[in-house]
Amino acid sequence: MKTIVEVTNIKKVYGSNSQTFTALDKIDFTVQKGEFVAIMGPSGAGKTTLLNILATIDEPTSGEILIDGISFLNMKEKQLARFRRDKLGFIFQDYNLLDTLTVKDNILLPLALSKMDATEIENRVEIIARRLGIQAILEQYPYQISGGQKQRTAAARAMITKPSLILADEPTGALDSKSATELLESLQELSQEEQATILMVTHDALAASYCQRVLYIKDGHFFTEIVKGKTSRKEFFQKILDVLSVIGGANDVI
Ligand code: ADP
Repeated sequence: MKTIVEVTNIKKVYGSNSQTFTALDKIDFTVQKGEFVAIMGPSGAGKTTLLNILATIDEPTSGEILIDGISFLNMKEKQLARFRRDKLGFIFQDYNLLDTLTVKDNILLPLALSKMDATEIENRVEIIARRLGIQAILEQYPYQISGGQKQRTAAARAMITKPSLILADEPTGALDSKSATELLESLQELSQEEQATILMVTHDALAASYCQRVLYIKDGHFFTEIVKGKTSRKEFFQKILDVLSVIGGANDVI
């Protein structure tokens, strides 16, 4: 197994002098290639801070992070931008699609500046669109498609470069339960069949139940982790809720 994410002793302190706040402390974890992992915890636990650090848009106060074996914390902005483009894919709660581009052009946008030949780009779009069930809407514009289709388009855009790591921030937050289920099944499939590595922040126990592992943080500290193993998704869902009821942050819309 290949380690894709290696987080060692991460600490994040906001502010300076007398006004400091420790948002993360002693955070250690690894994620292996092909894993689909959720990060959960109550509001204010430090989930967004952790995701922003992994996304290279915020820096830890101390600690080390390797993504695909590469340390990026001391990179200069240009090198960091290249690292972000080549190694990371993003899925946000509000899709972040460009309204003036078709679904297809949104998906291939991350490859627009690459030197990849057109046939290879076409092939990739076709394969990923088929995987996510959006072949029929490739020529449509974001305003013509549903929220679920928008998020599957965003997932295709995140996958098109075959990034080492996909970071998803509450990807089902704006979706109805049927669209959310379809998206989660797709992400699960992509991790199992394409060995995509996905790290997802969510407060939704149902969403987390599609993952192989759930990491919980509370007050900036690692709290516990649970592993799905051979249990069914329903049993795992129940386990996730049990932990949430202890640490707080359980959603009430199940
Ligand atoms: P979560 O995503 O789990 O809700 P966050 O990572 O957003 O938590 O925040 C963790 C803690 O860090 C919160 O108490 C928050 O108020 C604090 N925090 C986040 N960003 C800043 C900042 N820029 N300056 C000061 N404190 C911050």
